[in-house]
Amino acid sequence: METIFSKIMAREIPADIVYEDEHVLAFKDIAPQAPVHVLVIPKKYIHNVLTLEESDTELAGQILLACSKVAQLMGIEEGGARIVFNCGTDGGQAVPHLHAHVLGGRKLGWPPG
Ligand code: 5GP
Repeated sequence: METIFSKIMAREIPADIVYEDEHVLAFKDIAPQAPVHVLVIPKKYIHNVLTLEESDTELAGQILLACSKVAQLMGIEEGGARIVFNCGTDGGQAVPHLHAHVLGGRKLGWPPG
């Protein structure tokens, strides 16, 4: 499935990459909603959290661990962070490739709009 994120993975379009390993890529959001706003995506194509399968169990854990590593790398692990997975139309998902938003660096409001 070709998306803007697959193009970033293929280095066809530039992104500010902050972390990468065998399973995931993490890069700064182009329209940051907080001082730290990083997207963490699996290299494997998965639409969103709602389409995860049993066989993705290990990968799901790797995505969460990568979010934690990104928070540490960006220096927000002490202040805290919000990690969000928008899913589908009602969830406000614009890019159809599973991604976590790692947001921090300021106090975030709740509830979300
Ligand atoms: P969603 O609404 O699908 O949960 O989030 C998609 C995110 O991708 C948005 O926060 C948006 O700003 C970000 N985004 C869209 N296009 C690009 C791009 O070309 N580069 C980067 N770095 N982020 C993008």
